[in-house]
Amino acid sequence: MTALPWSLLPDTATVDGGGALSIGGCAMSELADEFGTPLFVYDEAHLRARCREASAAFSDGVAYAAKAFLCQAMARLVDDEGLHLDVATGGELHIALTAGVRPERLVLHGNNKSTAELAQALEAGVGRVVVDSFDEMDRLDRLVADGRPPPAVLVRVTPGVDAHTHDYVATGREDSKFGFGLASGAAEAAVERARSSVSMDLVGLHSHIGSQVFVVDSFVKAVGVLGPFVRACGLPELSVGGGLGVAYVEDESAPTITEWGAAIHRACVDAGIDARICAEPGRAVAAAAAVTLYRVGTVKDLPGIRTYVSVDGGMSDNPRPVLYGSGYETFLPRATTADRPRAITLVGKHCESGDLLVRDGRVPADLAVGDVLATPVTGAYGRSMGSNYNQILRPAVTFVSDGDARLVLRRETHDDLTRLDL
Ligand code: PLP
Repeated sequence: MTALPWSLLPDTATVDGGGALSIGGCAMSELADEFGTPLFVYDEAHLRARCREASAAFSDGVAYAAKAFLCQAMARLVDDEGLHLDVATGGELHIALTAGVRPERLVLHGNNKSTAELAQALEAGVGRVVVDSFDEMDRLDRLVADGRPPPAVLVRVTPGVDAHTHDYVATGREDSKFGFGLASGAAEAAVERARSSVSMDLVGLHSHIGSQVFVVDSFVKAVGVLGPFVRACGLPELSVGGGLGVAYVEDESAPTITEWGAAIHRACVDAGIDARICAEPGRAVAAAAAVTLYRVGTVKDLPGIRTYVSVDGGMSDNPRPVLYGSGYETFLPRATTADRPRAITLVGKHCESGDLLVRDGRVPADLAVGDVLATPVTGAYGRSMGSNYNQILRPAVTFVSDGDARLVLRRETHDDLTRLDL
C-alpha cells in the first residue's frame, strides 16, 4: 500500500499540493509533453553533489566510471567538477575527448584493449592506462617501439575476494576475465614486467571487486588481502575501483560515498598502505540522479494472475531487470506521494515475453492508459547499456536544473536507424 520511498528520488525532487513531481524545478508532466517518452531526466544538482562528495571522500583523486552513463554533457559536467574519467573503450575515450576533457584526466580500462584503442590512447596522451593482461603489455611494447610515448600505467590486480553481488558484475574473484590474479603470482609477474619495461611507466596498482556492492566490508576485505602486495610493490598509487551499490527499491539501503571512502581509508591505514588512494565510482554518482518517464499504453488485467502495464520503452532503455533480475520501483509522477495499492507487472513494448521492467510494481489504484509512469534510480547502466532492439528509438536525455530542462541527447529518429545502411 505504501507510497514511493522519497529517498529513491533525486535530491531536488519536490511535489506540489496535489503530489505532482518536479525535479530541478521542472514538472515531469511538462517534460513528458515537451520531449516525449521514454525520457531520462537527470537532476544536475544531484550529479554535481555526488561528484563533490566523491572528491571529498577520495581527495587523492576520483575518476567517474563513464560506463554508468556517458554523453558529452556528462563528460563536461564531471570534468567541471574536477573529476577524472574512467573510459573502458575507444568509443568512451572518443566521447570524452570530443567533449573537451583533457587527455591527462582520462584513465583507460579494458580486459581486451585493441591495438587501435591503445594507439588512440597513447597518441592522445591519456593520464593512465590500467594494464589488464600480458597480451596488452605485448601490444604496448610494439606501439612504443613504433614511436608512441610510453603511458603511465596501473596494474590491475584481482584480489580473489567475493563481493557478494550478482555473478555478472563480480570482478574481483580469482576466476575472472579481468586483471592479474594475486594468488597465482600473475600480479607479481605483471608488476615485475611493467617495472622493467621501457614501454610503461608503472605508477601504481588497481583493483575493482565488482559492482552494486552493498557491503563495505567486501571492500575492506579486498584492501586487507591486497595490503602485503601493495606494501611490497611500494608504488605511489592505489585505485580501489568503483562498485559502491545504491538502493533501487524500498527496504534497500546502501552506504554513502562518504562512508565508503572513510572505510577504505581506514582499511588502507590498517593494512599499512602508504599510497595515494583513488576511486572510480559510476553508479553511486549517476544512478539515483535520474528517473525514466514512460507513457502507459496498455493495461491488461488477468484476474487471479496479474496485471500487465505496458509502456513505450522496455528492455532497450533498461536491460538490468532482464540481465540481472534487478528490481525497480514504479510510481505516477502526477501522484508521487499517493499510496500504491495496485500490484502490477511493468513491461515494455518489445516482441519478447521477457521484456520486463518491474516484476513487482505498485501503482495508485487509478492508473490509466495515457498516464506518465516513472521508474526511479535509472541513471546508471540504463541508457548506457541500452539497445535498438526491435529498432526502437533510443530515448532522449535531459538535464534539469533551476527550472531549466536542457536536452543533452536527442531522441533517435527513424533516419538514425538507417544511417549505417549502405
Ligand atoms: N571501475 C571499473 C574498472 C569497473 O569495471 C567498473 C564497473 O564495472 C567501475 C569502475 C564502476 O563501477 P560502479 O558503477 O559500480 O561504481
